[in-house]
Amino acid sequence: MDLADTTEEEEFRARLREWLAKVLPSLPPKPSPDDWPGRRAYDLGWQRMLYDAGYAGLHWPVDAGGRGATPTQHLIYLEETEKAGAPYVGANFVGLLHAGPTIASEGSAEQRARWLPPVLRGEEVWCQGFSEPDAGSDLAALRTRAWRDGDDYVVSGSKIWTSHAEVADWCELLVRTDPTAPKHRGISWLAMPMDAPGITVRPLRTLAGSTEFAEVFLDEARIPVANRVGAENDGWRVTMVTLSYERGTAFVGEVVACRRVLGDIAREARGNGRWDDAVLRRRLGRLNAEFRALWRLTQWNVSEAQRTGGVPGVGGSVFKLRYSHARQELYDAAAEVLGPEALDLGREWTLDRLSSLSYTIAAGTSQIQRNIVAERILGLPKGR
Ligand SMILES: Cc1cc2nc3c(=O)[nH]c(=O)nc-3n(C[C@H](O)[C@H](O)[C@H](O)COP(=O)(O)OP(=O)(O)OC[C@H]3O[C@@H](n4cnc5c(N)ncnc54)[C@H](O)[C@@H]3O)c2cc1C
Repeated sequence: MDLADTTEEEEFRARLREWLAKVLPSLPPKPSPDDWPGRRAYDLGWQRMLYDAGYAGLHWPVDAGGRGATPTQHLIYLEETEKAGAPYVGANFVGLLHAGPTIASEGSAEQRARWLPPVLRGEEVWCQGFSEPDAGSDLAALRTRAWRDGDDYVVSGSKIWTSHAEVADWCELLVRTDPTAPKHRGISWLAMPMDAPGITVRPLRTLAGSTEFAEVFLDEARIPVANRVGAENDGWRVTMVTLSYERGTAFVGEVVACRRVLGDIAREARGNGRWDDAVLRRRLGRLNAEFRALWRLTQWNVSEAQRTGGVPGVGGSVFKLRYSHARQELYDAAAEVLGPEALDLGREWTLDRLSSLSYTIAAGTSQIQRNIVAERILGLPKGR
């Protein structure tokens, strides 16, 4: 694989840099972490700017409203936006990074036309209703029940850890449509409008003090059958597509951001004398190598996905596993550099350190990623 930019890629990078330099200073101030309506408006506003400039859904297929950019152009986009300190996808995370790509891969023409343009234009926010109180790692054990009533499914049950549920318009929802089938076979993937009667959202507060996610209770909520993506009871296969995007590509931009933070940590250490510690310097050097390797792995995964038809493969689990641990090590190193100041919640990096703890749990725990790597990549025997 040749990793150097072609002339066309160089031009693409230069145009993007120029655009970022022009628009970033005009952004409004970031809302506070707990101002959810403000965060929604800010994130959707940025998405609209990307859309107007032709950068929304850059790597999505053209017939899904994207620009059909090459994987390398997409990586250039991620690299340059992170380097420039552009806003993160934020509340658009699920819509842009996994529900949208799933609908682009698995949805009908009508479904693509209905749901994808508002995601790209920054008009609608999605959340993910997969996990339940008794179905996290063992997601296929989910019990939220959906039964047919005319042209609707009637859905009852509860979901947990639903990020951004408070501000979402739609939810990618997994339901059990056949309780008699083996657990992986009776599941369907639905798009649920969050304003349907019968839905109650109860926010959950995290260690870092923010209500990032919520419990979602469903009491006979009606969802049109037409909102099912994929065939009835074929939702597990569709879910695997969603998870491959979630683990394979959804975090890649953050690797660039981590490399930027690592540089800032080294600068801080030089300034406060901690740099004299050879053990710390070795630690930062090793992290630098780790994030460089992760970026190369990303490039490899993305070009593999392109070669094999666009959906990221199980290589995403290798990335997710290593990245989530490296991110925790990065913010541990930041705390070592800061010393007692690392306990100050107002200090840069302190909240990031707390939230980094969730990375080895969200989108499938490290133990589950190791199981996937062992069984599906290394071909080791399945555990009992
Ligand atoms: C910040 C954050 C955001 C999230 N956002 C969402 C969201 O938007 N939507 C959503 O649906 N979910 C979301 N989740 C939920 C997340 O997907 C689950 O927390 C995760 O899958 C683990 O499930 P669990 O919490 O039920 O833990 P459990 O499955 O109960 O696991 C408990 C422990 O047992 C281990 N374990 C379980 N099974 C095995 C096994 N077979 N082999 C080895 N070890 C095992 C796990 O690794 C873990 O350490 C989010 C979680 C976090 C932390």
